[in-house]
Amino acid sequence: MTGFREAAIDLGAVTANVAHLRALVGTPSLMAVVKANAYGHGAVPVARAALTGGADWLGVADIEEALELRAAGIASPVLAWLHDPAAKWAAAIDAGIDLGISSAAQLTQVADAARSLGRVASVQIKLETGLSRNGVHESEWEPVLALAARLERAGEVRVRGIFSHLSNTSPADDAAAIACFERGLEVAAAAGLAPELVHLASSAAAIRLPQARYSMVRLGISLYGLSPFDDATGADLGLRPAMTLRGQVAAVRRVVAGAGVSYDYTWRAPSDSTLALVPLGYADGIPRQASGLARVSINGRQYPVVGRIAMDQFVVNAGDDAVEIGDPVVLFGDPATGVPSATDWANAAGTINYDIVTRIGARVPRSYRQPGEE
Ligand SMILES: *Cc1c(COP(=O)(O)O)cnc(C)c1O
Repeated sequence: MTGFREAAIDLGAVTANVAHLRALVGTPSLMAVVKANAYGHGAVPVARAALTGGADWLGVADIEEALELRAAGIASPVLAWLHDPAAKWAAAIDAGIDLGISSAAQLTQVADAARSLGRVASVQIKLETGLSRNGVHESEWEPVLALAARLERAGEVRVRGIFSHLSNTSPADDAAAIACFERGLEVAAAAGLAPELVHLASSAAAIRLPQARYSMVRLGISLYGLSPFDDATGADLGLRPAMTLRGQVAAVRRVVAGAGVSYDYTWRAPSDSTLALVPLGYADGIPRQASGLARVSINGRQYPVVGRIAMDQFVVNAGDDAVEIGDPVVLFGDPATGVPSATDWANAAGTINYDIVTRIGARVPRSYRQPGEE
């Protein structure tokens, strides 16, 4: 039964995607990245499904996101790597969360928190290798890695990993970042560090750049069944999309040729037409930029979105087809079933599939299908 608005999440697809990618990459460890509410899919159920598929680490941006996983009873290793200056270091250490470290200041704060708790903080040092975001800059590697080694010898921190992140700009840019990362690994070894985890690749490099795999890959978009590439679909990569965004037709109206539709009348019916109203709008994360460009599926046929996408709703032109209130509408899902994909919506909106699934708003209830459930 389709709800009025609903993001149906196929947890079996997440499990299968992780198992497929695990076999493909062959690294000793695999991290499922479940930041941002698992790219809109729901952090806790997706984390469990990914662990079932063979992920051994979970990755998030913020400590708050990591604590949410722990609060749900998830005990697997978790790494959080983006911190505010007043981050809850003690709560994270207490919850056994690994902390990504991007500066000497963070390292010192974490060691101080560990000392006052009487605990050893598990840290993973992030090296800046070209993205110009966070991570320790090459000019700081020696002092920061030496400090990490000293704190490790003092029993305050354990340096469990060293990592960085690629820009996926071009083969040459990725090669330069890998070379930079290798220099960082040498500086770490010279400082006396022997981290158990070395990781650099997110989905794109994990799939196409074997030399970037090291001991772990961090998979986000691919575990949701979507492709990080312009030249390959999820299906081409052996993946199945986990999210189907759907709803029910809220109203049907027959209009005469010339009728204006939605704000600003950016579209007027060229001939007498049956219009179906779909009760999702930009408040739900439907990109307004896709007005007049995206398509949806109703009763197994695809129809164009016409006129402006509004806050709560948009209009679809069903031509002369019979459409009724309550008919199920699929905005995107698995294109193998004949419906548009999240990537189709991304192309219509001038963005990427990551953005399409992640932006689906809180007003859209998530429903979950367990592995094996029909
Ligand atoms: C978001 C993120 C990932 C996952 O990237 P995908 O392209 O979705 O696989 C991996 N590593 C870091 C540091 C990230 O921020």
